[in-house]
Amino acid sequence: MTTSPDAVALQARLLAWFAANARDLPWRHTRDPYAILVSEIMLQQTQVERVIPKYLAFLTTFPTLAALANAPTAEVIRMWAGLGYNRRAVNLQRAARAVLEAHAGVFPREVAALLRLPGVGPYTAGAVACFAFEQDVAFIDTNIRRVLRRARVGPDQHAPAPAERELLALGAALVPSGQGWVWNQALMELGALICTAAAPSCHRCPIMAVCRANATWRTEEAALVLAMGANFAPAPARVVRRVAERRTEPYQGSRRWFRGRLVDALRALPSDVTMPLADLGPLVKADFQPTDLPWLHELVTALAHDGLVRLEDDHVRLP
Ligand code: SF4
Repeated sequence: MTTSPDAVALQARLLAWFAANARDLPWRHTRDPYAILVSEIMLQQTQVERVIPKYLAFLTTFPTLAALANAPTAEVIRMWAGLGYNRRAVNLQRAARAVLEAHAGVFPREVAALLRLPGVGPYTAGAVACFAFEQDVAFIDTNIRRVLRRARVGPDQHAPAPAERELLALGAALVPSGQGWVWNQALMELGALICTAAAPSCHRCPIMAVCRANATWRTEEAALVLAMGANFAPAPARVVRRVAERRTEPYQGSRRWFRGRLVDALRALPSDVTMPLADLGPLVKADFQPTDLPWLHELVTALAHDGLVRLEDDHVRLP
């Protein structure tokens, strides 16, 4: 495949910037697919700073795939405390068990086989294939999606968002041969540190000169200067561009919040102790009433379905 001159420039600039600015993150020192999978699952919905100590502690407690696969699920859920989205802990253990049982403990290398592991989607499969096995694959996470869209398509607010398949094709065309690992790390790093969602720091960005979003913004600004007359100068605040942030639903009082509180309450119990539903209620909901029991029962049933708790005779515990 031939690569266009601006794509070559983009590759060279981004790789040079990454070589000089990459953060020293523990999962960048390993190619162990098990450790990479642990880091990727943790990083899906949790910030890097919070993940680092949890990642190190998790690998100390479960240093190998077999150690995780053979551990009681309750212990894995306990180790997940503080990371949120507890279902990831159960899925991670299920994936470890599947590698042990279906692949004799040897991680599959191909994206298609990785995708068959429980809880592993296209992003995680691509990340493991790339970061553990150094394959030149393209995949999309939030940071990569944002950088690719801005750099290769244009500003977020202009035109409808490109389809995932379209972005993946744009990403695949950019992966430099034999450098998939460093390329994908660099893209993610740029999205995390420079091309952030709310305030991309274009003035510090290594690919500004070849970025389509930035070119559009500069054209718009030049037109504004022209329209406003020679005395108009963009305010310094315009250098760091503010992009409208998406509103999020309040977390406290949400179903996810109650699920988290319920699992937290069970984490605090000794491993062989179960709790009656009626005693669990006030620990989950401050103004819990007996009339809330059906609501609590439904919440526990859903958690049991996800493998996070066990419900027996109206008594609940970690699995
Ligand atoms: S120039 Fe700005 S918009 Fe373009 S990739 Fe860099 S930070 Fe993002």
